[in-house]
Amino acid sequence: MSKTFCPLPWNSINLRNNGDLRVCCNTNSYTKNRGILRKEDGTPYNAGRDDLNEARNAELLKEVRTSMMKGEWHSECERCRQEELNGVQSRRGYENDDWGHIMDGALSNTEEDGTINPDDFDIDYFDIRYGNFCNLKCRMCGPTDSHTWYDDFVNMHDKTTYKDTHDLITLTKNAKGKWSTNQYDWFKNSNYYWNNFEKYTNNVKRMYIVGGEPLIIEEHIESLERLVQSGRAKDIEIEYNTNLTNVTDRILKLWESFKQIRVGVSIDGYGDVLEYQRAPIKWKLLYRNMQRLDQNLDINLKCWFTFTVTPYNVLHLPEFMRWKLEESGLKRFNPLTGLRPLVTHHMCHSPKHFNVKVLPAIFKDEVAEKYQEYIDWILASGYSTKVKNSFIKICDGVTDFMLSEDYYKDHWDRFVFETTKLDELRNQDIKSVVPEFKHLL
Ligand code: SF4
Repeated sequence: MSKTFCPLPWNSINLRNNGDLRVCCNTNSYTKNRGILRKEDGTPYNAGRDDLNEARNAELLKEVRTSMMKGEWHSECERCRQEELNGVQSRRGYENDDWGHIMDGALSNTEEDGTINPDDFDIDYFDIRYGNFCNLKCRMCGPTDSHTWYDDFVNMHDKTTYKDTHDLITLTKNAKGKWSTNQYDWFKNSNYYWNNFEKYTNNVKRMYIVGGEPLIIEEHIESLERLVQSGRAKDIEIEYNTNLTNVTDRILKLWESFKQIRVGVSIDGYGDVLEYQRAPIKWKLLYRNMQRLDQNLDINLKCWFTFTVTPYNVLHLPEFMRWKLEESGLKRFNPLTGLRPLVTHHMCHSPKHFNVKVLPAIFKDEVAEKYQEYIDWILASGYSTKVKNSFIKICDGVTDFMLSEDYYKDHWDRFVFETTKLDELRNQDIKSVVPEFKHLL
């Protein structure tokens, strides 16, 4: 793999859930601009009103390509850079596994300033996010990605506005007395968007559908139906990030028509660890739905655990991997024969107070000690060398990432404030889920 090349700036279109176009979903964490593609006057390109091909030569995307062609890291790719520096599998790595073969053509067909002729590069990959309608309010998330967060946001911050990349969002009370906004409805009843959808999914090989929670969003189902009716479904892989709380027969039937359905289940632990981080999810319901998928042989399914590592579950990660191997009974989730036989983990980079770098030194020591206990366990087990190496690589990568910087001084107070305030609002208690926090909060 080249030092910095990533196929996404050449072969993909990526939306935020407000419809704004960006370099890719990993560019959300480090720069103020959050990877947003803008016109000359600074307005974001938005899928609800702009031509998507025009955005493929946005100034920022040209800059990112130029950096990659020179073998340099662009500042918008900081998240991938940090992960690779610490031995954590980066999104760039995942994408090169799938599309790395386009590199030679990309490098030779791009002008010096990063301009491409969009006709030379098929859109292989389309990352679509239909608003922020979601039934969960995960701790490291917020109102931009989940409408269920609105009430907690207002109670915690005592304000009804916040800034998103497209506008200042103002929450108002709806008829039911709940905080709400229609500022994420860019795709609703939009002929413009659906015309773009038809045009840009013509040669698409993979669609990544996210929300909010995609499986409860009607327009997600309309997308599947359009692809089935037009006969394109058999050539397309659909990939999800989903909390898998809502798997209907209608969706399962539609999935049967696709080349492959790739389900990344947002699961950051089992039992009360999961229920704490992803309230108000119910572990038993999620586990049942995973079993349903595991047993469904009518769909060409590929499933994995998308485990987001935060201060709440960093101690639990190796126990979750042990559970996966020893108790889950799930054969099609991160299968032992696959590239990643345990979990597909991601570090929570932002907000910084939910990045594991925020933890006090004494807690970091406990994490390292616990990881060593589990490494000793896996080494003494009968699992294959591949599984053992993968287990150790994940533990080492997370430890190195955690120790690579110290956010404690600047961000720990914020972690304590948000944790205790949300515990109060949600009637939860971190100390009963992770007793190691007892003396720290
Ligand atoms: S290198 Fe990482 S951040 Fe940059 S475009 Fe690729 S996946 Fe996105």
